[in-house]
Amino acid sequence: MKIATVLRNDDYSREVNEALRQKLAASEAGTYQLVEHGDEQPDLVLSIGGDGTLLEAVHQYGFQPTYVGIHTGHLGFYADWRPDELDEFVRALGSVEPLIAEYPTVQCRIQTKDGQIHHKWALNELVIRNATLSTLVVCVFINGDEFETFRGDGLIVSSPSGSTAYNKAVNGAIVHPSLEAIQLSEIASINNQTYRTLNSSLVLPKHHEIELIVMNPEIMIGLDREQGVWRDVRAIVCRVGTDKVRFARYKRLPFWGRVRNAFIKD
Ligand code: NAD
Repeated sequence: MKIATVLRNDDYSREVNEALRQKLAASEAGTYQLVEHGDEQPDLVLSIGGDGTLLEAVHQYGFQPTYVGIHTGHLGFYADWRPDELDEFVRALGSVEPLIAEYPTVQCRIQTKDGQIHHKWALNELVIRNATLSTLVVCVFINGDEFETFRGDGLIVSSPSGSTAYNKAVNGAIVHPSLEAIQLSEIASINNQTYRTLNSSLVLPKHHEIELIVMNPEIMIGLDREQGVWRDVRAIVCRVGTDKVRFARYKRLPFWGRVRNAFIKD
């Protein structure tokens, strides 16, 4: 099995990575070849760090390999293993047939006014905000029909697994990743006698399309960890991605258990 690792840039994550490499090399249960980015395509990518490290890993390696998260900070949402469970993890790697959990993504097409089209995707979410502190103005179309004009701080289009991230902070619903859906949530919309939005999150099924027609000359676009200022964006079209990110589960940790561990349990 070809394995690549992606690390958070801190001493503890490097230490855990070194210990893991030694355990993999000494394992009698399986043969592992550690590959570097740019070499051969790995079968499995191990992210050692936090949720941000896992997001970095999936953008580095894409949809082909499977992923396992080892968290070296506070409990991560995408990570299954703690550093004190490395022996158990290496044993499971050699002896357990993993369950492959496939998480839907958000697929986006960003069209600029000069006619260019940029294809992007996110595992957590796309976020748009105005590039300055003034109001973001966006006409929202759903499946080609005008829905509303949004005025406020920003809009989030999240995947099911991203529904527990930024989307949750603006009171969006938590969506199980077995549902192929995207969710549109508002950040601080203006609602008064003059301006009106739905002011609730919307969950759309596969094949439905959200088109965001941007009125501001300059906006900030966030895609998971990547963020940047874009000029002259005409529209952003989002739908459920055709590709999914595949997580290899070597132990049972259901989605609702992750939600409980992350947000409820002490
Ligand atoms: P970060 O270091 O700012 O961490 C943000 C927090 O979000 C961390 O606690 C991380 O564990 C958590 N997180 C990330 N993905 C999650 C998920 N799917 N479910 C539950 N929690 C999750 O940034 P980062 O670690 O690089 O993560 C980037 C993510 O941060 C973005 O994709 C966005 O969802 C999130 N974010 C959240 C807010 C907010 O809640 N107000 C604001 C900005 C960004």
